Amino acid sequence: MAKSPLAIYIHWPYCARICPYCDFNVYKGTRNDALVSAIDQDLTYWRERTGTREIISIHFGGGTPSLLPAAHIGRLVDKVDKLWGLAAGTEVGLEANPADTRRDYWKAIRSSGVNRISLGVQSFNDGALKFLGRDHDGAQAIAAAGDIASIFSNFSLDLIFGWAGQSANDWSQDLKIALSLKPAHLSTYQLTIEPGTAFERAEARGNEKAVHADQSADLYDQLRRRLTSSGFEHYEISNFAQRGHRSRHNLAYWQGHDYIGVGPGAHGRVTSGGQRIATTAKARPGNYISSVQDQEPDPRDQELLSGEDWAAEYLMMGMRIQDGISIARFEELVGHSIPAAPLNDLIAADLIQKTKDKMTATETGRPLLDHIIRKLLT
Ligand code: SF4
Repeated sequence: MAKSPLAIYIHWPYCARICPYCDFNVYKGTRNDALVSAIDQDLTYWRERTGTREIISIHFGGGTPSLLPAAHIGRLVDKVDKLWGLAAGTEVGLEANPADTRRDYWKAIRSSGVNRISLGVQSFNDGALKFLGRDHDGAQAIAAAGDIASIFSNFSLDLIFGWAGQSANDWSQDLKIALSLKPAHLSTYQLTIEPGTAFERAEARGNEKAVHADQSADLYDQLRRRLTSSGFEHYEISNFAQRGHRSRHNLAYWQGHDYIGVGPGAHGRVTSGGQRIATTAKARPGNYISSVQDQEPDPRDQELLSGEDWAAEYLMMGMRIQDGISIARFEELVGHSIPAAPLNDLIAADLIQKTKDKMTATETGRPLLDHIIRKLLT
């Protein structure tokens, strides 16, 4: 019998400094060897809980996992291999910061088993990088991408758009430089002001807004046209890939596969006995370490998802991707057929397409996904 697939997310919560727009579970710092040991131990717990699986991917996210020494990364990759077995070519990804631009480091990381890098360049515009609170400049971003490209055939660049004052020309320059670096993949993030961030506090104090939401739709359209005309597949709302280089790890989320979240605050979704369970690890590193060391009672927050919640999540994630969702699968989870009226309205408005069992959002519909989801879930 085929083993069911499983993706593994490992969260490294430390950053050299905290960006003003960031609402992730992050802490200022670099080393924490006890945390590496706790993550190692937590993987053993998850192996017992999930049983044998086909590992789709390992992803080191953060935070800034490129602050981790290569030996620690290698230790955790080896641990996964020992516990579940890693097939040749399994995607092992690491998020990296251009400020860590050390060629020897990238070589060591490659030797430790990592085969895909997501480089958080965000922009090549020095003014924008300063405004975004980043600790690198455009030249460092280009140098880091060059070093990575010489060692990894599979790398992605992360770009941010929608910052206040960004012109179409600024965005065009960023895209031009990004394309010249020949990444296999591009991930984009439309800047938003999230609760609890420094940008939100600055706005509350009456400072100038950090985001110009009015421009963002035009910038998104510009992005989509530029990258698709340069040969990239627009396979997910914010993600673009050269053929054969879609992010397998992120696809696991969007396609509704199981994934475990290891490390402080990491989220997971595991299916057991036909039930879907959402798990969340303790957020603060110290609490996470002690909770992993003391396994009784189970230290993870766990929530059993209802059929409706599971179906809603499947719909919300699956409609983000070009491949869309299986209607039969959605109806099986939600327990009833999708009502014809909203479905037909959305098709008539050219927001979704339906072909046999498959439902996808159109290019017009993708930026309006919240509206589509609301209609389909009511
Ligand atoms: S480097 Fe990334 S994870 Fe760290 S604070 Fe900045 S945006 Fe957040």
